[in-house]
Amino acid sequence: MTRLTRRNFIGAGAAAGLLLAVPTISIAAGTKKVVVVGGGIGGATVARHLRMADASIEVTLIEPKKLYHTCFMSNEVIGGERALESTGFGFDGLRARGVKVVHDTVTAIEPDARRVKTAGGETFAYDRLVVAPGIDFKFDAIEGYGREVAEKIPHAWQAGPQTALLRKQIEAMPDGGTVVMCAPGNPFRCPPGPYERASLIAHYLKRHKPRSKIVILDAKTDFAKQGLFQQGWTDLYGFGTDKSMIEWVSGDLTDRGIASVDADAMTVTTKFGDTYKADVLNVIPPQRAGRIAVEAGLTGDGDWCPVDFLTFESKIHKNIHVIGDASIASAMPKSGYSANSQAKVVAAAIVALLDGREPGTPAYINTCYSIVGEDWGISVAAVYQVGADDKGAQVIKSVSGGLTPMDAPAEHRRREVEYAHSWFENITHAIYG
Ligand SMILES: Cc1cc2nc3c(=O)[nH]c(=O)nc-3n(C[C@H](O)[C@H](O)[C@H](O)COP(=O)(O)OP(=O)(O)OC[C@H]3O[C@@H](n4cnc5c(N)ncnc54)[C@H](O)[C@@H]3O)c2cc1C
Repeated sequence: MTRLTRRNFIGAGAAAGLLLAVPTISIAAGTKKVVVVGGGIGGATVARHLRMADASIEVTLIEPKKLYHTCFMSNEVIGGERALESTGFGFDGLRARGVKVVHDTVTAIEPDARRVKTAGGETFAYDRLVVAPGIDFKFDAIEGYGREVAEKIPHAWQAGPQTALLRKQIEAMPDGGTVVMCAPGNPFRCPPGPYERASLIAHYLKRHKPRSKIVILDAKTDFAKQGLFQQGWTDLYGFGTDKSMIEWVSGDLTDRGIASVDADAMTVTTKFGDTYKADVLNVIPPQRAGRIAVEAGLTGDGDWCPVDFLTFESKIHKNIHVIGDASIASAMPKSGYSANSQAKVVAAAIVALLDGREPGTPAYINTCYSIVGEDWGISVAAVYQVGADDKGAQVIKSVSGGLTPMDAPAEHRRREVEYAHSWFENITHAIYG
């Protein structure tokens, strides 16, 4: 069948992950089909932007959840500053854009046949596939921890019921109790996330259970925005004194993380052999790409999916793009904003490729806000381009960026909190609204 289609892609328009619409008319044979696995930040963004760029493409988004809870702002829920409901988003906005939303789980990807199969018994053919399943946990890495134990000892690193469970436990903890958090080694979802979580739990405890304490057992010897976090902790929670509400145990002292959890005794033992008793235990295990990516062979021999940085097309399977946390994105952190920026670039690239054109030259962006306490926010921002390293290998490089200054005036920090909240409203509206 020969039919008219609308194309509105600008080659270089992926700049900063933004697309400018310039409609042109071209002829294509048959309806082009794109299937998207996962309706989180990366998947929902790419589905929406594909339809915005070319409404003639049939876009099918497969996601088991009817309500997706963002991880961002989940630390505010855990700290009692926000209702869980405010972080839940449905898929009607995407349906209104013409995305076919199917609530199911993809169980098999068949790259040669170009189709996926679902738990519900359906098969979906594609011209291009986008895989955005987020993360899975390497539960085997910690003795005594696993999917079932996580129902008692939450990781809360995928939002929703896990977020609610951790909040409930912190609320129920008596004054004088100890929260033990275990932070994983790199790379993992949201590098500043554990430290924002510790901050917002401290913010709650300071007002409601002031004799309580948080111990962070880290697998790393340093962490994202460390100087800024510690400055905030010093000012707000007595960090560095005997009375500090937050204690950070560096990876040097844990021997790079924890070895085991005893769920009955509520203890955790570091690789060094020290055992800590907790009233509330939050174990964030090491991570890898979402299970379907591993099962489809998209991770190769590693934990994450290697991709071409110009299009995020898999280096292992043609016609499959992997975005968001599941991908290896060089210098870009595993964040929602990164996933969103990659998704916009990939939508533009797919429209070009389906149209027989070369994709443009992308640029990517990321900003991560962290809330440390009342009127106390910090952020890091960067713009990225594709380049080469010393040995000529393709990399994504930060070409510009910035960090909240140390010793920023109070007004600056207050505004960072405001920006964090408005970023949340804007990005969720732009994806799911
Ligand atoms: C505490 C915390 C705070 C954070 N704060 C921030 C922040 O302030 N800013 C920021 O930018 N980022 C933040 N992040 C990181 C951000 O949430 C993730 O980087 C982002 O969600 C990654 O998007 P994604 O699309 O790769 O994965 P996800 O958003 O996790 O989406 C993956 C989706 O795929 C679905 N899925 C999985 N397998 C299948 C399958 N087989 N079939 C169909 N669907 C499937 C899942 O159900 C899920 O909905 C935070 C994370 C945490 C944990």
